[in-house]
Amino acid sequence: MKHAPLVEQLIQAFTCLPGVGPRSAQRMAYALLDRGRDEGRRLADALHGAMDGVEHCQRCRNYAEAELCPICSDPRREPGLVCIVSSPTDVLAFEQSGEFRGQYFVLMGELSPLDGIGPRELGLDVLEQRLREGQIQELILATGTTVEGEATAHYVLDLAQDAGVSVSRIAQGVPMGGDLEFVDGATLAQALRGRRPFQS
Ligand SMILES: [Zn+2]
Repeated sequence: MKHAPLVEQLIQAFTCLPGVGPRSAQRMAYALLDRGRDEGRRLADALHGAMDGVEHCQRCRNYAEAELCPICSDPRREPGLVCIVSSPTDVLAFEQSGEFRGQYFVLMGELSPLDGIGPRELGLDVLEQRLREGQIQELILATGTTVEGEATAHYVLDLAQDAGVSVSRIAQGVPMGGDLEFVDGATLAQALRGRRPFQS
């Protein structure tokens, strides 16, 4: 069956979401058209608002609606202690653990040259600049234990060593790299307290 052009366009648009194939996209489109016009309009407004209004924090690269995110602009957070994470969901996991009082640096990915993700795509030039500025005393690495996570961790270690900044890594045994959301707060707090010096 061929859809009307606008319906087809809506279905196609939904397929950009992770885990949404053509069938689910079609169900979503029909659900909104059949009985959710107001919700659909709210969805469209929310998408417009977020796409135009959400940028990256200039300090940590997490999503922000101002130059600095709420964590980076909070004077109670220790600017000398910076936790390196792969994704914004990792930040949420640490925040929910209630254990961490430092700041973050969010890579928004991990090094993966074959996919065209190099140091620049992860903002590692920004991190290098921050390390040189001298305010950071310790970096805590919480990138994943996959090949990409390890490569990223070693790249960051080199940057930190060049700048004379000490590096530790959270205790192993928790899945990392976008998966910290599945770790309970107590486990994550323990992994943070059990962090070890990280060396090449
Ligand atoms: Zn920030």
